[in-house]
Amino acid sequence: MSAQTGRSAVTVLGLGPMGRALAAALLGAGLRTTVWNRTPGRDAEAVAAGALPASSAAEAVAASPLTVVCVVNYDASDAVLRQDAVTAALRGRTLVNLSADTPGRARETATWAERQGIRYLDGAIMTPTPTIGTPDAVFLHSGPADLYEEHRPVLEALGGTHTHLGADPGRAAAFDIALLDIFWTAMSGYAHALALAGAEGVRASELLPFAQGIGAILLPLFAESARDLEAGTFPGEGNPLTSALSTMEHVVQLSDAHGIDAGLMRAAEAMARRAVEGGHGADGFTRVAEMLGGR
Ligand code: NDP
Repeated sequence: MSAQTGRSAVTVLGLGPMGRALAAALLGAGLRTTVWNRTPGRDAEAVAAGALPASSAAEAVAASPLTVVCVVNYDASDAVLRQDAVTAALRGRTLVNLSADTPGRARETATWAERQGIRYLDGAIMTPTPTIGTPDAVFLHSGPADLYEEHRPVLEALGGTHTHLGADPGRAAAFDIALLDIFWTAMSGYAHALALAGAEGVRASELLPFAQGIGAILLPLFAESARDLEAGTFPGEGNPLTSALSTMEHVVQLSDAHGIDAGLMRAAEAMARRAVEGGHGADGFTRVAEMLGGR
């Protein structure tokens, strides 16, 4: 089935690196794909691959029953979607917002869409652009289950795994942000570790196999922490908070000695210290999650 004659039609609004990857995957799956981007000219790659260019967002939306918007955040998607002509064109159609933002913005957009008579699904993309259209892509979705099921075949053309997380439109963003929390603090820790190792004359490539070992240790620890948190038990026999705190202090001390900013570890150290001072020194590190609240 060629891109021009494919039975399902999809519009992609936003042709940054991710929007371009989404359009390429849809085209690769043989879907008739219409594209639009705020800054003209960014549709060249998609059009060369068979996408239909649109001269306005409203024209793009009118071309398909399903529109996927993927721009930097919800201020940007609002700027596109809440123009009168675009809102009017969306009425009665389905909009899937794959831009990243907070759960509150997702819920607020769902409420706006409902008032406008727009069928709305929210979503989050958890993997980088090269994964899109491959089995490695990970998409999260939230919103009405029947609407998700209706559009699932087209969404699955984006490749990878698609998980519907529930009717609350904020759920995909909630998962996204929690997972980004892990990702960015881990990457910041690694960037800091590389600087610290470098200051001690250790090359990144020398540290690498051991850094990967630390990464591997984390996976079973995540499972253990999830179990402990839900059970409300925080066993610390193997590695009590007092011991963890001491090793965190070493990171701060060596950073200070080399004049390397230790703000990240100071923040972690402060959380662990608060738990110890709260009488939980014999507990495991997951006690910090309980102390931070959220339940
Ligand atoms: P960006 O996050 O840089 O988004 C660029 C897109 O946003 C462009 O189409 C840009 O249009 C548009 N945009 C920005 N401001 C506005 C505005 N005010 N009005 C209209 N359009 C606007 O790049 P990506 O494409 O990579 O990301 C898109 C979304 O996908 C983001 O929410 C990102 O977090 C998410 N994502 C990206 C991943 C990646 O690996 N790149 C991975 C997972 C999620 P213009 O060209 O006119 O500037």
